[in-house]
Amino acid sequence: MTEVLNFINGEFRPAVGGRWLPNIEPATGEVYSRIPDSDTADADLAVAAAIGAYASWSGMKVSERFHHLMRLANGIRDRLEAFARAEAIDNGKPISLARQVDIPRAIANLEFYAAACHHFASESHYTEGLGINYTLRRPLGVVGCISPWNLPLYLFSWKISPALAAGNTVVAKPSEVTPMTAYMLAEVARDVHFPKGVLNIVHGLGSRIGESITLHDQVKAISFTGGTETGKRIVEAAGARFKKLSLELGGKNPNLIFADCDFDEMMRTTMRSSFANQGQICLCGSRILVEHSIYNRFMDTFTAKVKEMQVGDPLLESTRTGAVVSESHMEKILSYVALAREEGGTVHCGGYRVDPGGRVSGGYFVQPAVISGLGMECRTNQEEIFGPVVTVQSFRDEAEALRLANATPYGLAATVWTQDLSRAHRVAEQLETGIVWVNCWLERDLRTPFGGVKHSGMGREGGFEAMRFFTEPKNVCIRYT
Ligand code: NAD
Repeated sequence: MTEVLNFINGEFRPAVGGRWLPNIEPATGEVYSRIPDSDTADADLAVAAAIGAYASWSGMKVSERFHHLMRLANGIRDRLEAFARAEAIDNGKPISLARQVDIPRAIANLEFYAAACHHFASESHYTEGLGINYTLRRPLGVVGCISPWNLPLYLFSWKISPALAAGNTVVAKPSEVTPMTAYMLAEVARDVHFPKGVLNIVHGLGSRIGESITLHDQVKAISFTGGTETGKRIVEAAGARFKKLSLELGGKNPNLIFADCDFDEMMRTTMRSSFANQGQICLCGSRILVEHSIYNRFMDTFTAKVKEMQVGDPLLESTRTGAVVSESHMEKILSYVALAREEGGTVHCGGYRVDPGGRVSGGYFVQPAVISGLGMECRTNQEEIFGPVVTVQSFRDEAEALRLANATPYGLAATVWTQDLSRAHRVAEQLETGIVWVNCWLERDLRTPFGGVKHSGMGREGGFEAMRFFTEPKNVCIRYT
């Protein structure tokens, strides 16, 4: 059985307390590895290592930091197939998706922020009759990075890359549900002689090691991606200690489909935006809003296509829909389908557990579901399900579409389908979300600000936004008159 270990000061070690947690393969339901059940003692060790490494890492020439980050990126690239396979086993996602999206994106994150070291700049302000102000941007010190299970290495690297590029040393915690590729990244760090203590990776439960990182006095900032309820707890713990916080939280994203859209293109993309990664992407459009005049055509085509979807073993090349991440998550998804029925919804297809047979007959597989007939106010349309379940509603006009789209506490992303350019701009402006895609979905330019409004988060990741988050601005005023 593989043993995942903490990576502290360049060395692998079990939890100080000697406790372990089981790690389950969602496609089989079987324990296949174990991970350290770390706590405050492990956080103390990791933070001490990060403090020890800070002076040399933050004082290092930018060109050297660039090379260190590029070595990590290249180390992953050299083992891309092993990383993709590990991600598929650990998370339940199809190996083709891990190979084409998750692992290449992790490499891109490291490369992007390696380059950002060179290009990051700060402002200066000339003050007439006095002199000049310039902004010094220094790293914060030791920072905590906490990531979720849905895009394990992709989101883990999205946090540690800018944190390291900006000159901080890091204590990072992947989700206990999907620890494997972060552990493999630690192996890469060891193999490429990444400076000791700069990147420390600890494993275990959010309620133990996660909280220990959040509460640690020497951790200056927390970059967190996960659920909104966890985000609240982190705000209470870290906010009271005046730590800088970046929070990427849950979503209930609307997908607005106007009658003048390119129907075929919309349908192809809506299949992906609804069910990619088993609907477990924070950016998936889980509420589909369709203009009244094309509602019946949409429902006929969409439900026919969803009925054809086949779930299967994530390790088979032909699989496009794999397992959901855990038994408890599967139960949560199924309970929402039952709730939708209680609330008066019609389940057109799916919404039940499937057994694909063979090696994966004990796994956590859910047949994708399409639900209609529910109003905006019901829980099914208000709460995040985070699985292969979408609801569909119709609207009469633009105003009603916007009212429905904005009627949840969340505000992460929205998708708009229309050929009317003026409407695209108008609607984009009025959507209460941090991200809007028009006639596309999940197109990402890493330079752009990424994040949500309302209960979907605080602050922005991406591009120089993340470099700004991981640095503290200091104004220096020089009088020369
Ligand atoms: P989660 O909140 O349960 O856990 C996320 C991470 O936080 C894990 O590493 C967990 O161990 C840790 N954690 C849990 N409790 C903690 C605590 N009290 N203190 C410190 N750390 C703690 O989320 P999840 O179930 O892993 O991920 C799914 C959620 O993530 C969904 O709500 C999804 O929308 C959200 N998400 C958001 C984005 C985004 O960019 N906005 C991206 C991906 C996922």
